[in-house]
Amino acid sequence: MSNAKLAKEFEQIVGAEGVMHEEADLHAYSYDSAVLDPQVPALVIKPTSTEQLGPITALCNKHGLPMTVRGAGTNLSGGTIPHPGGVVCLTNGLNRILEINEEDLYAVVEPGVVTAQFAAAVAKTGLFYPPDPGSQAVSTIGGNVAENAGGLRGLKYGVTKDYVMGIDFYDVNGDLIKSGSRTVKCVTGYNLGGLMVASEGTLGVFSNIILKLVPPPKASKAMMAVFPNVQTASETVAAIIANHIVPCTLEFLDNSTIRYVDDYTKAGLPREAGAILLIEVDGHQAEVIEDAEKVVNICKKCGANEVKMAETAAEREALWTARRNALPALARAKPTTVLEDATVPRSQIPAMMEGLNKIAAKYKLDIGTFGHAGDGNLHPTILCDNRNKEEFHRVEEAVNEIFEVAISLKGTLSGEHGIGMAKSKWMEKETSRATLEYSLRMKRAIDPKGILNPNKIIGAL
Ligand SMILES: Cc1cc2nc3c(=O)[nH]c(=O)nc-3n(C[C@H](O)[C@H](O)[C@H](O)COP(=O)(O)OP(=O)(O)OC[C@H]3O[C@@H](n4cnc5c(N)ncnc54)[C@H](O)[C@@H]3O)c2cc1C
Repeated sequence: MSNAKLAKEFEQIVGAEGVMHEEADLHAYSYDSAVLDPQVPALVIKPTSTEQLGPITALCNKHGLPMTVRGAGTNLSGGTIPHPGGVVCLTNGLNRILEINEEDLYAVVEPGVVTAQFAAAVAKTGLFYPPDPGSQAVSTIGGNVAENAGGLRGLKYGVTKDYVMGIDFYDVNGDLIKSGSRTVKCVTGYNLGGLMVASEGTLGVFSNIILKLVPPPKASKAMMAVFPNVQTASETVAAIIANHIVPCTLEFLDNSTIRYVDDYTKAGLPREAGAILLIEVDGHQAEVIEDAEKVVNICKKCGANEVKMAETAAEREALWTARRNALPALARAKPTTVLEDATVPRSQIPAMMEGLNKIAAKYKLDIGTFGHAGDGNLHPTILCDNRNKEEFHRVEEAVNEIFEVAISLKGTLSGEHGIGMAKSKWMEKETSRATLEYSLRMKRAIDPKGILNPNKIIGAL
């Protein structure tokens, strides 16, 4: 069927203004935040109500049209690169917060609600929604659930999956499936919502999502610990955890990242430091004072040159602004930024950092590393130019080795950015052939024609 005829059928569902087929629109939705080649879809559909998601999905299935749902397109693994000639379905118009229930501590949202806007609306009621991916100013809750996004507070508060109480989603036939509930406990049937988390648009299309809310911490204290080298900083991370202190945030920046961030933000960071840790403890006032003191002592014992407390709200904000600017600051340096998120058990951070340094030297690459050190989730960021074929070949070899080191340390390919198209070829290495085949059998049972975001996660087996 021609694109024009298909467009007419979608117009029956979303109206003429909800169907885009101009060249410029198609190219605008042909790529995302991953360093992968763009793929041009046939149509871009923008529903205005969640009820339209079912008929859109059913129509794609009827015509065998691959369908990629897109929130803000900030994922870093190619999860929203469409199938060539397929359909992109935008959720950014589905952005209503339907309910914030202060009595039972939950909220119900449409999938296109922007994460930071949702967190701000929750904060206004005196409650707290902790997951805070670095992209929260634009990322959507649907995208966060589909990637199981983490964030700076993951160490103490967990990641998106820890806040999903229920999801209504459309299956490939366009039928509405209900999972979970507004109750704290719910074991009614299979944990279908759990299956949807991190499914990257391959198993269902999320409609309304029920999210858990918590009371906010009463007090917090942030600090910056300055280290002469990466090794002492990474040993400190392991030591803080081994001493059974759980900061809400424990972030790492190496020297290269410190310099790029300081150039960009003029934050006055210690440019000569080998590494810094940005740490925040929170909880009740007395607990915060005690934990902050313990953390300072551990940092000093492990070799910190200095530990600087944020004494005012502005000083605290300056620390987190510096951290949030790590990726944009590095990304300014060269035309291409390859950001990885290999993750290791926390005790293995020193070994992972040593491995990264060796890889950077071996392949003569500029790698800045920062990340959620408290979760063992580092972001080695390779600064390069993918138009330089010889250099990009070295980058690909380096990425291979980064994953090999992470897996050899009993780590994982991805702590939070997902597999998408970018990492599917390494899946077998971390899991097994049987695991991939099991996943494929499940995918085929749920989506026999392979309509829902094909070639993501398990790739084209
Ligand atoms: C600067 C920057 C910082 C980042 N920091 C973090 C971080 O700290 N932690 C972290 O975890 N990630 C981070 N990311 C990655 C990214 O922001 C997250 O993966 C985020 O969850 C993606 O949300 P999105 O709305 O952009 O989703 P998209 O990129 O649009 O989509 C992501 C996946 O979700 C699927 N999807 C979207 N909506 C639906 C739906 N309604 N139903 C079914 N599937 C759906 C898509 O098909 C796709 O597979 C960062 C990215 C950038 C660019």
